[in-house]
Amino acid sequence: MKKHDILIIGAGLAGLRAAFEGVTAGLDTAVVSKIHPLRSHSCAAQGGVNAAINPKDDWHDHAYDTVKGADYIGDQDAIDMMCSEAPQAVLDLDAMGCPFSREEDGTIAQRPFGGQNFPRTAYAADRTGHAMLHTLWEQAIKYGVKIYDEYFLMELTKSGDQANGAVVMDIKTGGLHQINAKAVCLATGGYGRLFASNTNAMTNTGDGIAHAMRVGAPAADMEFVQFHPTGLRSSGILISEGVRGEGAYLIGKDGERFMHKYAPNKLELASRDVVSRAEMTEINNGNGKNGAIFLDVRHLGRDLILERLPQIRQLSIDFEGVDPIEQPIPVRPTCHYTMGGIRTDKYGQSIRIKGLFAAGEAACVNVHGANRLGANSLLETIVYGKITGKAMVKFAKGVAEAPAANPDNLASVSARIAALKARPKKDGVRQSDIRTALTEAMNENCSVFRDEERLAKAMAAVQKAKADYAKLYVDDKDDAFNTDVITALELENLILLGEASVLAAQARKESRGAHSREDFPNRDDVNWITHITSVVNDKGEVELGRDAVRTTGNDKYAPQERKY
Ligand SMILES: Cc1cc2nc3c(=O)[nH]c(=O)nc-3n(C[C@H](O)[C@H](O)[C@H](O)COP(=O)(O)OP(=O)(O)OC[C@H]3O[C@@H](n4cnc5c(N)ncnc54)[C@H](O)[C@@H]3O)c2cc1C
Repeated sequence: MKKHDILIIGAGLAGLRAAFEGVTAGLDTAVVSKIHPLRSHSCAAQGGVNAAINPKDDWHDHAYDTVKGADYIGDQDAIDMMCSEAPQAVLDLDAMGCPFSREEDGTIAQRPFGGQNFPRTAYAADRTGHAMLHTLWEQAIKYGVKIYDEYFLMELTKSGDQANGAVVMDIKTGGLHQINAKAVCLATGGYGRLFASNTNAMTNTGDGIAHAMRVGAPAADMEFVQFHPTGLRSSGILISEGVRGEGAYLIGKDGERFMHKYAPNKLELASRDVVSRAEMTEINNGNGKNGAIFLDVRHLGRDLILERLPQIRQLSIDFEGVDPIEQPIPVRPTCHYTMGGIRTDKYGQSIRIKGLFAAGEAACVNVHGANRLGANSLLETIVYGKITGKAMVKFAKGVAEAPAANPDNLASVSARIAALKARPKKDGVRQSDIRTALTEAMNENCSVFRDEERLAKAMAAVQKAKADYAKLYVDDKDDAFNTDVITALELENLILLGEASVLAAQARKESRGAHSREDFPNRDDVNWITHITSVVNDKGEVELGRDAVRTTGNDKYAPQERKY
């Protein structure tokens, strides 16, 4: 058995930032990742990271914008912590050598982002995640974090109500290992791959959230899924909000801007949920072309596009055949971010399982509420990676020895894999067929606009996927690099998360943030200022509950009509 003080599953920004705290506190710290850490989804982040570092800005304003953007369902204590710690978190990265873009005077450059009243988004051109991830990876190597790369989380293990590690599979050999630890963190990212059209990496299958729910650690806010206004029409690949931050327009098929009808003050830089609904309304009213509207940057000029938006230009050329210097880019709302995650206290510890922590997109701390502000996610990874890392250090130092792991853990996981491989091909279903049907149904029925009828169709698709999963077979029976088995296990996680997401969407009979129900078009602050939790109960069913929104008594955070 392998043993560490701190075990972190996930080597994206949140996982590596938490690991930095563990290893620099002198604890034996290990990180597990199903892909090489530098391929983690964080690497794809484009536009930037928010922080009130400009002397004319104020973290209280950042916190206010975040509470409002969250449609008044974010936890106010966590939002205050994130926004007040943001400047230091960005400066920490700067000091580690992260190559942020600069102003002429050498200060960190910042651009405007949606839903905010100050240009507070620091960036490294349009490759911010790449720059930040490489910086934290260098630190992990420098301080000697133990990295298990290409190891797959199979099961979380616990002793009573205390986490004590995980069973992981070495993907290269198929070998199973129990890793024992005093404190365990899930930093496994979100579940955007539940939707056929999305901006996410293939790996974003929400594995950690599903495993947490299975061992009794509730997830929360699973109904809140962010649809980004500007995914490329054909592929869903992201065109960053930073492009609108630089001054891009949204136009309809005749070249006219339309955002003044929906957000007269902020226009294209309204909050994402508002812009996505505006676009879908325009498309549904016939102002789109081939299911898309257009993002126009031509007026920004060639020099600015080449200097600040080089990746965006290349993505448009490669994946849409459009050079934005010459032509508007066809875009449409596409699944981008999942606000739901493992429900934690304000220091990142599960509300139910001791010693189990969560950080980053896998967590529901909750700083994003019903709608995340652009550039607040990278911020969450570095602030809450740090806070959660420190909380884990404190917890691990208070535990003499990790509780012993059950010796049967490995045998039961091994039996599960053997049973999966033994399934007959005859009358069986391939994982890709189940996945396509599920994700297309989610796209169709649980997207920007929802109602009872469409949600019922989404639930029927989830139930069909569950039934089909019982007949799933894998062609590859080998142990080494068996991606057939891995993708089947990821699908099992997606099905569970799909069920939780649709159940919570059916339960929430109001419209708030990204959850927009045409049959309940208004926000209902009397009944629904609450998080909906989801956990797998003893009967193996998803059970919903409620968890209070944490408030601070700040009058400025009292719910108001949300206008941009
Ligand atoms: C295209 C794009 C652009 C974005 N741009 C921005 C931006 O400009 N600003 C912003 O704030 N946000 C942005 N976001 C959102 C932001 O990038 C992510 O929310 C954030 O990076 C998530 O980081 P994370 O550390 O939580 O998870 P991830 O970076 O997703 O890392 C998850 C880690 O968990 C590991 N893992 C997962 N499952 C398993 C398993 N079963 N076993 C072992 N390991 C596992 C993975 O290998 C990986 O290392 C963007 C998102 C997208 C899709």
